[in-house]
Amino acid sequence: MKRYDVVVIGGGPGGYVAAIRCGQLGLATALVDEWLGADGKPALGGTCLNVGCIPSKALLDSSHHYHNLAHLLPAHGITVEGASMDVAAMLARKDKVVQTMNRGVAALLKKNKVNAYSGHGRLETDNRVSVARHGNGGEETLAAKNVVIASGSVPVSIPVAPVDGDRIVDNAGALAFQKVPARLGIIGAGVIGLELGSVWKRLGSEVIILEALDDFLAAADRQIAGDALKSLTKQGLDIRLGARVTGAKAGKKGVAVKYEDKAGPKALEVDRLVVAVGRRAYTEGLVGADVALAMDNGGRIQVDDVCRTSVDGVYAIGDAVKGPMLAHKASEEGVAVAEHIAGGAVHIDHRIVPWVIYTHPEIAWVGETEQQLKEAGSDYRAGSFPYRALGRAHGAGDVEGFVKVLADAKSDEILGVHIFGAQASELIAEAVTAMAFRSSSEDLARTIHAHPTLSEAVHEAALAVDGRALHI
Ligand code: FAD
Ligand code: AMP
Repeated sequence: MKRYDVVVIGGGPGGYVAAIRCGQLGLATALVDEWLGADGKPALGGTCLNVGCIPSKALLDSSHHYHNLAHLLPAHGITVEGASMDVAAMLARKDKVVQTMNRGVAALLKKNKVNAYSGHGRLETDNRVSVARHGNGGEETLAAKNVVIASGSVPVSIPVAPVDGDRIVDNAGALAFQKVPARLGIIGAGVIGLELGSVWKRLGSEVIILEALDDFLAAADRQIAGDALKSLTKQGLDIRLGARVTGAKAGKKGVAVKYEDKAGPKALEVDRLVVAVGRRAYTEGLVGADVALAMDNGGRIQVDDVCRTSVDGVYAIGDAVKGPMLAHKASEEGVAVAEHIAGGAVHIDHRIVPWVIYTHPEIAWVGETEQQLKEAGSDYRAGSFPYRALGRAHGAGDVEGFVKVLADAKSDEILGVHIFGAQASELIAEAVTAMAFRSSSEDLARTIHAHPTLSEAVHEAALAVDGRALHI
């Protein structure tokens, strides 16, 4: 039986990053992952790399370029006649991006002396991990001083809309439509529904998004959510709030969808239907019968604040445990756990996990929303600054959106930053850094920002907290 200091189960951004860090720290490390690519070969990188973050962003970029041909470039004096979209080429490019990154993860593991095993890992007693190889490849058992579970998540399925992989699909199917659906229905106006809806809308689909809740993007700052809803609706996304899907039946030509809103039962015909109603921890076949791994109420693996589970020497991270289901949160926990195993101090600052939604304009935030501060009775000051007051935004033709900085009224510590606008995914990093150093809005306001850049909106919003924005 091979012996390791650490065996990681799961090769997504939680697991592979944990394994790399373990390797860097000189721990004898193995990683077990079961994902196979379309070619039947191991495809490291988990949900994020194979059917999540990376392919969705590749398609968002492709579709954004296509959309810009008609909607942005003419204003720059550029007209392109006879432009067309080759969906097969777009998907092939996306697949190539994914495969390049799959190889990159494998190379990083090798560089850090991590042994990768392809197959299903199961935690047994005494922290042994059995690896069932694919097909009839047999089983082998690894002995581990420590185990890190990073088994990730899978899409939530709802009985009223059973996924058939053809007419009714989940995120993986919606990243691989062979042609642009004329009419696309999406259940769920969450991050995934909005991003995938944007892709196909830009390519020409009529997109109808059915969302059970009355509130749009309930976790986001209300002002940001309100502006984003208006903007996405203007772009042609038909977002129906308070619309709970009660049935979906796939036929030869399309899907008959039933839903209910305040006015009563409604019906809708679409060519394809995407079920994007959230994700749940993936723990099937993960532990042997004699292992008492405690789960929380939400079906996730129960962990303490340094990701220790109820089993001694076993940690769990990422989508399989509490907290937002985001790749960078999983990776951060992976690093922290590796350092804890190596005897180092652990620091996971869950307070400052940034959120990003890659629509156009993008939506990004970190920290508290205004409604959370109000509910908590916190005394705060807010400063906002619109993109339309930025020279760089005008130059780029991207003037929609704003930045909002929220700071404690007494200490001036930044409590939250909310951005709706182009490049929000990049701009939010400055806010995260500022909050990590517990900066005041004054600190940000006194920091020189290059001109002309979109980051000036962050600077000006910080100045606005004290009522001294310069360009508005
Ligand atoms: P996963 O990435 O799910 O990886 C788990 C891995 O473990 C998988 O390879 C799985 O096969 C393997 N595994 C599980 N159990 C076993 C077992 N018993 N034995 C062997 N292997 C096992 N997040 C962002 O931060 N930014 C984004 O832009 C973003 N976009 C997304 C877009 C979509 C369409 C989707 C679906 C998700 C997106 N996410 C995004 C979320 C992100 O993908 C997840 O938060 C992230 O992948 C979680 O990482 P993880 O390592 O915990 O798990
Ligand atoms: P997220 O968890 O961010 O991916 O978002 C999933 C969304 O799907 C949530 O906002 C849910 O309210 C929504 N949802 C779940 N079930 C249904 C349903 N049957 N009909 C419409 N929306 C749903």
